[in-house]
Amino acid sequence: MTTAPIIAIDHVSKLYQSNGGTVNALHDVSLSIAPGEFISLIGPSGCGKSTLMRLIGDLEQPSSGAIQVKSKPPHRARLDRDYGIVFQAPVLYDWRTVRKNVELPLEVMGRGAPERHERADAMLRLVGLHEFGDAYPWQLSGGMQQRVSIARALSFSPSILLMDEPFGALDEITRERMQAELLLIWGGADTDTTVIFVTHSIPEAVFLSDRVVVMSPRPGRIENVVTIDLPRPRDIVTRESPRFFELVTEVRESLRES
Ligand code: ADP
Repeated sequence: MTTAPIIAIDHVSKLYQSNGGTVNALHDVSLSIAPGEFISLIGPSGCGKSTLMRLIGDLEQPSSGAIQVKSKPPHRARLDRDYGIVFQAPVLYDWRTVRKNVELPLEVMGRGAPERHERADAMLRLVGLHEFGDAYPWQLSGGMQQRVSIARALSFSPSILLMDEPFGALDEITRERMQAELLLIWGGADTDTTVIFVTHSIPEAVFLSDRVVVMSPRPGRIENVVTIDLPRPRDIVTRESPRFFELVTEVRESLRES
């Protein structure tokens, strides 16, 4: 890798203590991620995908090894608001309007009202919901709610977007549309946003990513890293190209070996 990594994971292991036993959730994981890369973590349930994402985001601490984010510890990066996080369930506040939900991180950061409004407008436009700013989350569909979560996560221009199965609860058709929209949003975001995306879906990982990190369970390790050389912008034609199917097969075979 020629540019300095934005995220450097160096021989990281993670043990959890539970019910008197020890779970070896991750073992000796090393990975360098370049600024602006779209990286998917894929593997069977329990292989440590979420754990790895949570370690990067300072939501868990490694048992051994080290992680550097923008050349600093993840804790410092979290204080510096380098992360936006989107979970599987949209976690919106039902009593706040869509606009007020998007403004929330900026409110917490003490930004003034004019800046908050301007930023929320821009983000709602980016995710195609500018007409829904005054609606309440419960008035929107699941896909729209998840777009609000993405707008909120991007509202303070984080350099890293952590996404833990954000489309897992959506039906297949909505999910494919959201994947295409995410790529447009990612391309339209103001900086070179780096995305770490946890998924179970092979086509989803291939469609979105620059690299797919295939993980294997017990203990969680990196089995293979597949470079996705599909041209961007990607669209429906991408999904129907022979190269897409080759890459899906490559990831599937890596998973089978894991
Ligand atoms: P994935 O996201 O790939 O499904 P996780 O990272 O959630 O996997 O979990 C990896 C392993 O660590 C699993 O065996 C899981 O049960 C265990 N684990 C995760 N979090 C905890 C925790 N807080 N306490 C104990 N065990 C945990």
